[in-house]
Amino acid sequence: MGFLNNCCLCGRGFGDRRPKTGTWGVAFPLPHPLYRYCDGGMHLDCLEKWPHRLEFSRGYFAGRRADYSGMGTLLAEGNGWILGCGPSLPHGDPYYAEVDLSDWPCRLYTQWANWDHFVAGEFGSKLAGAALKAATRVMQEVALIAPDSQALKRLRLGALQAHNAQRGAAPADRPQAGDRG
Ligand SMILES: [Zn+2]
Repeated sequence: MGFLNNCCLCGRGFGDRRPKTGTWGVAFPLPHPLYRYCDGGMHLDCLEKWPHRLEFSRGYFAGRRADYSGMGTLLAEGNGWILGCGPSLPHGDPYYAEVDLSDWPCRLYTQWANWDHFVAGEFGSKLAGAALKAATRVMQEVALIAPDSQALKRLRLGALQAHNAQRGAAPADRPQAGDRG
């Protein structure tokens, strides 16, 4: 988070302990008017009332989704969410798993090994209000496909196998440089 001390929507400090979230990086480069809200912190209740929440959130969501083509693995996606994980060493587990919501700029993030607690309710520990409601709806869907660590591991293996198969098949599918007459 770029600036940790003040909410970029109301300008007040976070000393009041109201639940907050934050974004990393810039989804809306200058001269976009949302630039000034990027890479900063926000109270969740300020965000809830903010008229630009959807546009802002969807910009970050699209960026997160695109990031998986370069780092980590996209494991699943559903109606308004994606589930992914970080990169790992060969034969190791990734360090984290993450669920992103399309309509809230909140990354629901946990250590890979902690997935069972996370999916069982810990995902909501720092959320409140409408953000918590949205996250709860999404996590119910996520729990259908990754109810526990074992299911999450299977999901990842499947995604990696599909990825490798695609990579292996690609060169053979393409015509060779000299093939065309
Ligand atoms: Zn605020």
